[in-house]
Amino acid sequence: MVAGESGLGKSTLVNSLFLTDLYKDRKLLNAEERINQTVEIVKHTVDIEEKGVKLKLTIVDTPGFGDAVNNTECWKPITDYIDQQFEQYFRDESGLNRKNIQDNRVHCCLYFISPFGHGLRPVDVEFMKALHEKVNIVPLIAKADCLIPSEIRKLKERIREEIDKFGIKVYQFPECDSDEDEEFKQQDRELKESAPFAVIGSNTVVEAKGQRVRGRLYPWGIVEVENQAHCDFVKLRNMLIRTHMHDLKDVTCDVHYENYRAQCIQQMTSKLTQDNRIESPIPILPLPTPDTETEKLIKMKDEELRRMQEMLQKMQQQMQDQ
Ligand code: GDP
Repeated sequence: MVAGESGLGKSTLVNSLFLTDLYKDRKLLNAEERINQTVEIVKHTVDIEEKGVKLKLTIVDTPGFGDAVNNTECWKPITDYIDQQFEQYFRDESGLNRKNIQDNRVHCCLYFISPFGHGLRPVDVEFMKALHEKVNIVPLIAKADCLIPSEIRKLKERIREEIDKFGIKVYQFPECDSDEDEEFKQQDRELKESAPFAVIGSNTVVEAKGQRVRGRLYPWGIVEVENQAHCDFVKLRNMLIRTHMHDLKDVTCDVHYENYRAQCIQQMTSKLTQDNRIESPIPILPLPTPDTETEKLIKMKDEELRRMQEMLQKMQQQMQDQ
């Protein structure tokens, strides 16, 4: 998932990361249209191949975030979306066809921070706090070519301090195994020290030192997206697709989803003890208006849910009997 104020280069970075052109049909709203705009959730899928391994990624964009005059709770559609994916997974997992579940849970949220401010803005703090128990947040400094290296260092330090101060839990890179070789350990250290990654995106290929590279051509020079002396793009890409993809999924599964699941089960059992009869055990979040196909599916799922309720009641009974 990508989130952050519009214009910070989210679409450009996604295109640069996955070498696609996902946003050619995007309609940009004017200021008037954006005043009352609500946050949308737009999904794209991309197929990529990394070292011979084919991956199908879903990119969830959140246009409209932070654009309205009043941004109170503008992250609500985003948290609802994440919860809906957990809810769907929970239903599927408790259903009959548990082996072929399509996992649409959000495994990572790239959160774009403006390079122009002096650290986090209130909306950044509130957004990250609203999401940090639900998803792996990877904060990024957007448009890093707007800052010189010393400014980037200062901004990174400040953001790290503020993340600590406000108790925000961003994604923590796992400890490196002690038996890894020295080169790997060094790369791991550099990765951790670089957070929050300062990134640059570009939709154009330019010529730099005789080579065609993704970059931005300015009257005074070229910034290269994949040049590690220019920004942390390569670190971010490697981490997302190569080195930490599994860990991101594991943390989603073992921490964020487990929290959601535990809450659901707790709600279900406390409702059961209250009235020994449940109408709707799983919190039903606003889902889009269903068509007939979806209605059929919902009926099926309700049926599964009913079976689950019966099972729970039996378990409850057994517990009381013991
Ligand atoms: P989004 O609204 O967050 O998706 O932002 P876009 O990707 O549409 O980018 C908004 C504008 O910023 C466009 O003119 C991009 O060309 C420009 N842009 C994107 N990435 C960068 C970057 O890394 N550095 C600079 N300086 N400009 C960028």
